[in-house]
Amino acid sequence: MINVLWAGTERNWSLFEPDLKAGFQRAGLDVDLRTAFADPAQVDYLIFSPDGPLSDLSAFENVKLVQSTWAGVEAIVTNKTLTQPLARMVDHGLSEGMRDYVVGNVMRHHLNTDRFATAKPGEWLSDLCPPLARDTTVGFLGLGALGLACANTIAYLGFNTLGWSRREKSVATFQCLHGDAGLQQVLKQADIVVTLLPLTTDTENLLNADALSKMKRGASIINPGRGPLIDDDALISALKSGQISQATLDVFRTEPLPADHPYWQMPNVLVTPHVAADTRAKTASQVVVENIRRSEAGDPVLYLVDRTSGY
Ligand code: NAP
Repeated sequence: MINVLWAGTERNWSLFEPDLKAGFQRAGLDVDLRTAFADPAQVDYLIFSPDGPLSDLSAFENVKLVQSTWAGVEAIVTNKTLTQPLARMVDHGLSEGMRDYVVGNVMRHHLNTDRFATAKPGEWLSDLCPPLARDTTVGFLGLGALGLACANTIAYLGFNTLGWSRREKSVATFQCLHGDAGLQQVLKQADIVVTLLPLTTDTENLLNADALSKMKRGASIINPGRGPLIDDDALISALKSGQISQATLDVFRTEPLPADHPYWQMPNVLVTPHVAADTRAKTASQVVVENIRRSEAGDPVLYLVDRTSGY
């Protein structure tokens, strides 16, 4: 019998339980899946999310894998009590959700939709005819599971696409860059910058006053990555001065974003409440089951987090 502890939220338990149980059965795994075990030392696997009930993992001394239900692992990878291997969530439900969010908002920025939506009666803005996709450059900061899925679709739609990652990459459909010189090129050339980086010590405040000043005047930002990737004060100044024309922000240093935060009042900011890509029980459960199956079979576990890089 394999003991699996659900350490996610209560709400998600009701969504995940049937899919996980069905998945374990299909995989031929004899699993006791529960929200509590009397003795933490009995637990073989932890299904974890940072908004769940657990913060001290030290008693789970026999856990073979902590499987996160979140793609972003900054809140657990820095947890000093985590000594067990950690896998993050990579699943096509997340990628599809993120792709929809990014494509929708890139199109919104590209077509200047908000300007037409806020036109006064009779304000006939015919001089704002949108450019063609090929004349707009979209730069992706982060080319991982999510950034790559989004960048490929944006490139397919005809946008001039650039991507930036930590390590050198090559993709057939768009130009990939890395290193500081690569970042400077994306900042200089992109009309729309999409941030899909994990939050690490290297990426925190990546878009600070200096980086924002190097962007094209009037460029825009879409951030479904993590709030602290952006220095908020610097972005607010850049949005006020027109250096940055528009921002669509899904993630924030404090969530929910407090009602008195300046972003709520800014006409050129769209706040969305961390909804870009939700972990969906049906697809994410398959990833959890597959990783436990692999671990039990002695096969390599998928999507292991590298503690040194922090993602
Ligand atoms: P991932 O597969 O780990 O990809 C991360 C990407 O960022 C990789 O391309 C990586 O480069 C790059 N990167 C990391 N550190 C870097 C650095 N210092 N300089 C340059 N590039 C760097 O992550 P993912 O699954 O695509 O997810 C990305 C993030 O999206 C998550 O960490 C999470 O914060 C966020 N997210 C948000 C939502 C939402 O609803 N808003 C939902 C899910 C996830 P390499 O390719 O060289 O490793």
